[in-house]
Amino acid sequence: MSVRALARVNLAAVERNVARLCAGLGPGTGLCAVTKANGYGHGAVPVARAALAGGARLLAVASAAEAAELRDAAIDAPVLLLGALSDEELPVALGARAELVAWTERFVSELARRAGGGEGVQPVRVHVKLDTGMGRLGTRVLDEAVRVAEQVAITPGLELAGAMTHFASADEDPEFTAAQLARFEPFVRAMRERWPAIAAHAANSAATLREPASHLDFVRCGIATYGCDPMNQDPAAHGLEPVLELSSYVAAVKSAAPGESAGYGRQWVARAETWIATVPIGYADGIRRALSNNCEVLIGGRRYPLVGTVSMDNITVEVGVPDVVACGERVTIIGRDGNERITAEELAQRLGTINYEIVCGISGRVPRVYHRDGAPA
Ligand SMILES: *Cc1c(COP(=O)(O)O)cnc(C)c1O
Repeated sequence: MSVRALARVNLAAVERNVARLCAGLGPGTGLCAVTKANGYGHGAVPVARAALAGGARLLAVASAAEAAELRDAAIDAPVLLLGALSDEELPVALGARAELVAWTERFVSELARRAGGGEGVQPVRVHVKLDTGMGRLGTRVLDEAVRVAEQVAITPGLELAGAMTHFASADEDPEFTAAQLARFEPFVRAMRERWPAIAAHAANSAATLREPASHLDFVRCGIATYGCDPMNQDPAAHGLEPVLELSSYVAAVKSAAPGESAGYGRQWVARAETWIATVPIGYADGIRRALSNNCEVLIGGRRYPLVGTVSMDNITVEVGVPDVVACGERVTIIGRDGNERITAEELAQRLGTINYEIVCGISGRVPRVYHRDGAPA
């Protein structure tokens, strides 16, 4: 049976990627697997379970709803909610027993009002964020970060859990990363002096792979968990295995005479007699329209160019001659077929973007099927 578009997700590869990343950490350092954005498009719940099986000690998400999704699936591990929270989202975050990030006294006051505390109620664990150069969330002011930490520490119902920051360019600028780390260190020192049990954390995937000094108490790995390279190079260089394969099938094959075209706007016109395969996957599935006349797919272990415009539901591929591909044959957009391989990194390069956007962009219309090295998951 050919499914029109399918994302096959290898949970054994998630486990191995996490184990591999953990093997690069010191004995006192843990790994937090980041499963925000539906597990970077892979499916948050199955990936979270596989990451925990591979050695992750905690999970991280961006929104309250994402934390609730993990709890609804009976996942019990600590969940760190990285994002900003509106007052409206707070009850959902608290209901999910998420660990929260704070950097203003106003937010901690709001939290204190809602958290309640009292007998038998688990305190809300709070991480204080210093902005050391990302310029997004967190306070740039060390004294303010320490004040927020003090407020958390004395508020009933809250527990001071961590000190954190986030790197802006760990994938390309080691000097700026080192400068951010140097700005973070006085905060970590001040926090550990007064609250020795807190966890300090800073590293994303790129810093985990490139900056051992940034590992601290735990690293927060997103993209590397999925076997994608944070530097948009070949993930195999770091022993990472791509987790996701995106495929479709040959739905129609037809000849095109010179002057005949394929797709909207006639952006590709046959110069000589050739053959075209139509593949039912399009931009509504996550094949970005900018890939029109600008990528290749794999059929029967060979590369063929996508020709013409990417439509909402279809693409067209030039196979050249009759009978090289048959209706029903698998078409690989991302993944391996024989000795050929197309990675999310390759597509990102063609689009002038990053692999993150490729995997996150695979839409909800594409069913995700989970397996373990080919065996049913
Ligand atoms: C998304 C995110 C991460 C993970 O980043 P990767 O580059 O995917 O490893 C870590 N920390 C924070 C604060 C994030 O928002």
